[in-house]
Amino acid sequence: MESKAVINTKSKERGVLQSPELYNYIMNTSVYPREHECLKELRAITSTQPRAVMGTSPDVGQFMDLLLTTINVKKTIEIGVFTGYSLLQTALAIPDDGKITAIDVNRSSYEMGLPMIEKAGVKHKINFIESEALPVLDELLKDAENKGTFDFAFVDADKDNYANYHERLMELLKPGGIAIYDNTLWGGTVAMDEESSVRLRSKPARKNLIAFNKYIAGDARVQISQIPLGDGITLCRRN
Ligand code: SAM
Ligand code: CA
Repeated sequence: MESKAVINTKSKERGVLQSPELYNYIMNTSVYPREHECLKELRAITSTQPRAVMGTSPDVGQFMDLLLTTINVKKTIEIGVFTGYSLLQTALAIPDDGKITAIDVNRSSYEMGLPMIEKAGVKHKINFIESEALPVLDELLKDAENKGTFDFAFVDADKDNYANYHERLMELLKPGGIAIYDNTLWGGTVAMDEESSVRLRSKPARKNLIAFNKYIAGDARVQISQIPLGDGITLCRRN
């Protein structure tokens, strides 16, 4: 007999579909059965943290895996690591000599997930930098050899800096390179009436993401697609 999906109505488990039944159907049918053991364990470790909700959704992770392998990504940047779910997913997808420049202001959360990265045998692909992301990107840009060399970037840090990150990434990514911006639908609140339906805590990021969505939609340097996976991702290709 088939086991019945556990319906969880917390927003993280509904995704932007806002339907726990449909979200659980997708997760239980297509995502969890194929999730790498070390990613499962990293999620379990992360779930003990008060800010566990920040971890990348496994459905987004699965999409990244498919994309990274399809376009043969080798050199990447990750902005916003937390305990490393998207980082480990990326490290598993790129080849053995691939490299990830991973930036976060907080090393301790990265170290929480590190045992799983080590267990998966992919730590050698990661250069973790504990810092604000903008100065690191500016430093990379000082070296002309870095310009136009990155295949991929995953952006998942402070939402008020997404446009600043995008400007730097336009120089760091190679033509045809891809950036993914996470959380661009912000629980669906980008399309809600702020006064009546948006919780106080969500408001600043919602405003930033609305501004970013408009800004990137008007950027002729890129092709984009806003995809309702997880909390909404914007897939962006540098022309
Ligand atoms: N991608 C991660 C994952 O899969 O678990 C989740 C990242 S979490 C949503 C956002 C992270 O961005 C936090 O770990 C936070 O410390 C980091 N962060 C926030 N502002 C930052 C900044 N200005 N520069 C670098 N990292 C920043
Ligand atoms: Ca995120």
